Amino acid sequence: MSEIEKVKCLIIGSGPAGYTAAIYAARAEMQPVMYQGMQPGGQLTTTNEVENFPGYPEGVTGPDMMLQLEAQAKRFDTDVRFGFITKVDFSGEIHKCWADDGKEIHAETVVISTGASAMYLGLESEQLYLKNGGGVSACAVCDGFFYRGQETVIVGAGDSACEEAHYLSKLCTKVTMLVRKDVFRASKIMADRVKNTENIEILYNTNTVEVLGDGQGVTGTLVKNSITGEQTTIPCTGFFVAIGHKPNTDIFKDYINLDSTGYIEYAQPGTSKTNVPGVFVAGDAADKTYRQAITAAGTGCMAALDAERYLASKAH
Ligand code: NDP
Repeated sequence: MSEIEKVKCLIIGSGPAGYTAAIYAARAEMQPVMYQGMQPGGQLTTTNEVENFPGYPEGVTGPDMMLQLEAQAKRFDTDVRFGFITKVDFSGEIHKCWADDGKEIHAETVVISTGASAMYLGLESEQLYLKNGGGVSACAVCDGFFYRGQETVIVGAGDSACEEAHYLSKLCTKVTMLVRKDVFRASKIMADRVKNTENIEILYNTNTVEVLGDGQGVTGTLVKNSITGEQTTIPCTGFFVAIGHKPNTDIFKDYINLDSTGYIEYAQPGTSKTNVPGVFVAGDAADKTYRQAITAAGTGCMAALDAERYLASKAH
């Protein structure tokens, strides 16, 4: 039988949402336990420079910022654990969670801050320049600024791709959008916006063959037209991927209400409450609109405050 541990507050996931929830919960003497998850520090650890998080006038690297958040959470005695939750049972008043270290945790409150993962094409060259910070990104709002005055390519045809292409068009001299079919998936208004932007060129029926580079950074994209078979090279220094995100919510689906794309639904707008009393959500696991570190941190704070109020209401 696995070891049972009783906790007041279990935080699942360690991005800005999870750490902010931990800081607040720890200062409220809820002795939070955090399981960091598969990617300690979350998506920001794959970002190079963060320049839009208030309080860092000189910018900060994603990994450094996450180390600082972790240190701040530990300063107030958050029990931060390297590991992940594999299974949950939210059917009773006590929320049961099983961790990969063999522990069975019985939590009075749970904050889900498991985030979402950007989807990538899976090309070796794409992954190379993603990992070395050499020009591949899945977040134009985070990284677009580094490509101002330069040419970029963006893959995708949904609302995100349109929004990001439009964002890039204001910074870059030219944006080339690669649409794999002959139609956009995006809403008409979003698609029309990119179609009507002068420095956005849309290539339909076009797939990425390879992200080209000099070993240090991206220099172009080799593309292929799926109708004619013709291959062309597009010069660019930034290669953006906007083909969707996958929220990391699979283990909760039997208990927590998810929308059709897997994002957690708030039970009460303006709060962090899920449909299960005592279980709260923060960050990208419930956010397909903003997806920013600062918004994740804000909802992490909300989740900890909601958890604290939930515990207080049960005590009376
Ligand atoms: P979507 O799933 O809506 O779109 C993904 C896009 O990526 C599709 O055009 C798809 O092509 C393309 N794609 C997928 N895989 C590949 C691949 N391997 N190669 C090339 N292209 C690929 O994701 P979004 O992130 O755009 O949107 C998610 C949700 O969030 C949607 O509901 C959207 O409406 C919403 N959203 C709303 C916004 C707003 O209203 N402001 C802003 C951003 C998102 P294909 O069409 O061929 O399948």
